[in-house]
Amino acid sequence: MYNSIVIRNGEVSIKGINRPVFEKRLIKNIRRAFHGLEGYNVYKGDGRIYVDFEEEVGDEIMRRLKNVFGVMSFSPSIKTESGYQLAKDTALAHYNEVIERTGAKTFKVTARREDKSLPMTSPEMSRDIGAYILSHSKNPLKVDVKNPDIHLFVEVREKNNIIYSEKEQGVGGLPVGVNGRAMMLLSGGIDSPVATYMIAKRGLWIEAVHFHSFPFTSEKAKEKIERLAKQLSLYTEGIRIHMVNLLPIQTEISESCPQELMTILSRRFMMRIAEKLALETVCSCLATGESIGQVASQTVEGLQATNSVVKEVPVFRPLISFDKEDIIREAKKIDTFDISIIPEEDCCTVFLPKRPATKPKMEKIRNAEENLDIETLVASAIEEREIREIGMLKW
Ligand code: ATP
Ligand code: MG
Repeated sequence: MYNSIVIRNGEVSIKGINRPVFEKRLIKNIRRAFHGLEGYNVYKGDGRIYVDFEEEVGDEIMRRLKNVFGVMSFSPSIKTESGYQLAKDTALAHYNEVIERTGAKTFKVTARREDKSLPMTSPEMSRDIGAYILSHSKNPLKVDVKNPDIHLFVEVREKNNIIYSEKEQGVGGLPVGVNGRAMMLLSGGIDSPVATYMIAKRGLWIEAVHFHSFPFTSEKAKEKIERLAKQLSLYTEGIRIHMVNLLPIQTEISESCPQELMTILSRRFMMRIAEKLALETVCSCLATGESIGQVASQTVEGLQATNSVVKEVPVFRPLISFDKEDIIREAKKIDTFDISIIPEEDCCTVFLPKRPATKPKMEKIRNAEENLDIETLVASAIEEREIREIGMLKW
């Protein structure tokens, strides 16, 4: 029955981004989400985005459309050739089908006359189609204009008709790419994949950096990151991961600095490296999965200490006020949770101090860092990095 989809793209949220840019990007991203499928056509017409499709791919297309940021909602619809009588008959058939499937008790018709050569106004047309349905259906329902079970939309145009009544919720957000690019600090934990999803949802492409301590952490740990990135690339258009070995830096810190500062000093290096990589890859921000007070390094003082090394880009922390339970719920929704809980060594646990400093004094941190050649350590970690591209499509 359905052969087309009418897409609604949250007009309210596009303030600040110009509309043609938003729509062009959204169309591109929808096509990308359908990669590998055949028998569909995505296009813009009358200020809206449509997808026409052949029956076999309908379910898969709608399933994938639900993961595309920028799609607020959509209606599966029936597109026919032009002609008012055909519009009425299609509306009647659709009405009968929906009642049978849903057991609806009330209905309402809203017609839109876009073919201006027709004599009726849109409200007249709505009444006319409503009357036609009531006199021709075996199931004449009551009309309810305020809160109908079936709200039947009939758009009568010069070239075709579109009939629909059902509405599916999309994920909302903004099309990935309209707001530039973020450098995401992606660990193998539960939080940073959720943060990645949230940043991508605001229209950013994702570039990621992952820190490991190979050979203390295994090749399997890197593969876990790739699996997470693969899952996230369903929403983000592929992810390029910079795999950075932090071991030489951690070794240096453990030899020359007080043990309780290990975590905080490592994190400051992570941020310095991430910022450098961001600037190199045209990312205009960093993003992390940090949340206040979740672990020793995420006290407000800890965050201050990690944040203060970043000079030129904002650091976004979309989970800053989330409880762990809320983050876990989100991770389950986007299907990263099961991958995140696979036990693998993390670079941070390799040198975990017995008593990490929870309220590090900036002066102590600066004194400790005087023993380190920060610039050389950062430069050589970046130099030695490996780049892996996950889920990127070449067109
Ligand atoms: P997550 O579940 O994201 O690992 P966490 O609760 O384990 O978070 P931390 O390990 O303190 O918290 O990390 C806080 C944030 O720092 C992470 O969300 C991530 O953005 C970044 N981060 C931590 N470890 C790494 C790593 N090995 N590589 C890249 N980023 C990291
Ligand atoms: Mg972690």
